Amino acid sequence: SKVDELKELDKKYYLHPTTVPKAFIENGPKIIFSEGNGIRVKDINGDTYIDGVSMLWNVNLGHGQKELADAARKQMTKLAYGSSFYGYSNEPAVRLAEKVVSLAPGHLSAIYYTSGGSESNDTAFKLARFYWHLKGKPNKKKIISISNSYHGATIGAGTATGIDAFHSFAGSKDSDVIHAKAHLTNCESGDKSDPNYEKSIRYTIEKEGSDAIAAVIMEPVQGAGGIHIAPDGYLKAVKNLCEENNILFIADEVICGFGRTGKMFGVENWDVVPDLMSVAKGITSGYSQLGGVLMSEEIRNTLVEYDQILGHGFTYSGHPTACAVGLKNLEIIERDHIVENVKNMEQELKKGFKYLEENHVNVTKTRALGLISGFDLQQDRDADIPFDQSIRAAQEVAEECYKRKLILRTADFEEGKNIIAIAPPLITTKEDIEEIINIIDEAITAFEKKIK
Ligand code: PLP
Repeated sequence: SKVDELKELDKKYYLHPTTVPKAFIENGPKIIFSEGNGIRVKDINGDTYIDGVSMLWNVNLGHGQKELADAARKQMTKLAYGSSFYGYSNEPAVRLAEKVVSLAPGHLSAIYYTSGGSESNDTAFKLARFYWHLKGKPNKKKIISISNSYHGATIGAGTATGIDAFHSFAGSKDSDVIHAKAHLTNCESGDKSDPNYEKSIRYTIEKEGSDAIAAVIMEPVQGAGGIHIAPDGYLKAVKNLCEENNILFIADEVICGFGRTGKMFGVENWDVVPDLMSVAKGITSGYSQLGGVLMSEEIRNTLVEYDQILGHGFTYSGHPTACAVGLKNLEIIERDHIVENVKNMEQELKKGFKYLEENHVNVTKTRALGLISGFDLQQDRDADIPFDQSIRAAQEVAEECYKRKLILRTADFEEGKNIIAIAPPLITTKEDIEEIINIIDEAITAFEKKIK
């Protein structure tokens, strides 16, 4: 059959990212996607799944959005591609730049386009370092990131990533990137009322010396690392710390940007304006490959004084088709009040989580900010006892969901942690949330029976 043929070809010719190669060669692809509509996707066998994580937290307007496809087609037939190097430009890239800047908080006043999140973060690091170079402080080169962060897979962004599992692949590192031990779930002291709860970052700055540090990077809500929402006051405290020490603050909004958290940008939940802001994923809802870095007016003004070539960029920086899709995507987000829907669905999710907590003793730490949400699974939540490592609770529950045609994601990088992530497309309805919660409820029940 065609399915078998594709599986065999896949195993033979296609080495997949973030997949165990040996297991893949034995089993072949778990699922071959073939079409999608709204929050649902079909596989090549014709089975329909709920896409409970918007694929990779990116298909924010859901699947099968004709308007986005039409925008791409229209631009492709007019001018599919045009360079942005050497002084060239194109209309969609210009219009999207204006639009994104108009939506962005505070003094963020220009965008540097990339083709994805990793490139955005690498670009942010380079911009931060170059800014200090232009300011006569070439030693300010180091970038601080925190535990459980995910910033991408290139050498710079990959080094900044604070999940060890992503460092196992080859040894190359950016030696100017360092990790603070800060952890959004406990912020070192575990006490949100402690005014020094950003102290791990403070300690790292003191140790390295602020004269050596270019920037601190942080996700307002950590996605891949396990849905860790910055506690109230935390981002502000870190931003203040950066200001005190003449260090730039980079917000990684690759997941949070464009509505995911119930605000247009994640930092707006805490009224923080970063100096640099990385975006990707939600800028096109995944319909085209695009990213960018927004920068403060101060950084922009410093850069535009530079009278030599800015030797950095990507072939697909300012890709006309990608930008046309991005423009249409942002138009729909505003026209259809998507961010408002996200805020409302957060409440529905929280109701569902309450129900799960009441019905399952092992569901704990449920959390949601907009439609980025999750919970921990524990053997005994009241006594704070984790599941034995051998049980792999999150994997088991996700697998039970999968059997019931709901695709979710797990985070179990940290010893003893079993986290389920739920981040459906931003067009998700109340009925969809109820369906998702019901499936999770059944899945946990099945898991509980299994481990009894
Ligand atoms: N930053 C965050 C917060 C992400 O979640 C991701 C991807 O998941 C990235 C950066 C890297 O983006 P990309 O995979 O497009 O390079």
